[in-house]
Amino acid sequence: MIIDLRSDTVTKPTATMLEAMMSASVGDDVYKEDPTVNQLEEQVAQMFGKDQALFFPSGSMANQAAIKLHTQPGEQLIADKFAHVYNYEGGGVSFNSGVSCRLLDGHRGMITATQVEAAINPPDFYHSPLTRLVCLENTTNKGGGACYDFNEIKRIKKVCTRHNLGFHLDGARLWNALVTTQESALQYGEVFDTISVCLSKGLGAPLGSVLIGDHKIMQNAIRVRKILGGGMRQVGYMAAAGLYALEHHIHRLVEDHKKAKEIGEVLKKLSFVKNVAPIDTNIIIFTIDGSEENFISQMAAKNIHFYGMGQGKLRFVTHLDYTQKMHEHFLEVLTSFTFKKRVFKKY
Ligand SMILES: *Cc1c(COP(=O)(O)O)cnc(C)c1O
Repeated sequence: MIIDLRSDTVTKPTATMLEAMMSASVGDDVYKEDPTVNQLEEQVAQMFGKDQALFFPSGSMANQAAIKLHTQPGEQLIADKFAHVYNYEGGGVSFNSGVSCRLLDGHRGMITATQVEAAINPPDFYHSPLTRLVCLENTTNKGGGACYDFNEIKRIKKVCTRHNLGFHLDGARLWNALVTTQESALQYGEVFDTISVCLSKGLGAPLGSVLIGDHKIMQNAIRVRKILGGGMRQVGYMAAAGLYALEHHIHRLVEDHKKAKEIGEVLKKLSFVKNVAPIDTNIIIFTIDGSEENFISQMAAKNIHFYGMGQGKLRFVTHLDYTQKMHEHFLEVLTSFTFKKRVFKKY
């Protein structure tokens, strides 16, 4: 049994998802003639109460397109220091949009309205870049799957409105936040100008993200997607997986969250575990006393795989393909694990 807790992106389509994919009607989506893609886009736009949605091959491309739609070269966006758009999209903010990032020192990847307001450059002070956009992430990735307090989001929205700033949500794991906080997609659609959501993380589709917004900003999205190389042809097979996932794989995310909490409880009892970050959703971040590399390789020898995140942090992510049977086995292995802190190399 191989247990892969590296990310919730490692899932494979289920048998019934594959059936839905195989029976999809398709067409050339670059001509907007793929009925399944069109259906997915309409459905997601409706969920969020927005005019339009556009299917993208990846979450990074959807975020990068959004940033391009909101900004002009030379301008600046505000985000938390852990933001995916800054840390994990290959420097795309500067490469694609010629935009700089003003990074805030938030809590678990989340920032406050007060912090945002203090970071806005005065628009008439032409020496500094013009602040144009605020990007939030919910749930946070590097922040350990943390969920925003929706009241704080509304306060940030007010700041954006007052200062004429765009408001984008990187909602790659928004589904995880929604099932945890019992909030609705419509609430999010009301406050954000653009939202990207991912179908291939917790939802288990093999590919795809969707960017959502009103007509005024989205009318250029298809051109930006084309420029980024994201125009796809008979991609309704993939959209069908997304539609299937939206119907069947949102509510079950609570199971991933429950397993994550249970793993956290076991970790807290282990003598070599120094700290376990709070667990809101499906991401577990912890630190250990000893070499992370040794821990990773000793677990890998037991067919249990996960990543280090740098700065001494280790991460497990639960997901659709992490079954109850794997979970029970993993908890047993963890409980009885003796960590060999020092491994002598053979020369
Ligand atoms: C995974 C992820 C993305 C998008 O990643 P892709 O691999 O490009 O699909 C964007 N934002 C966050 C917070 C993510 O975790």
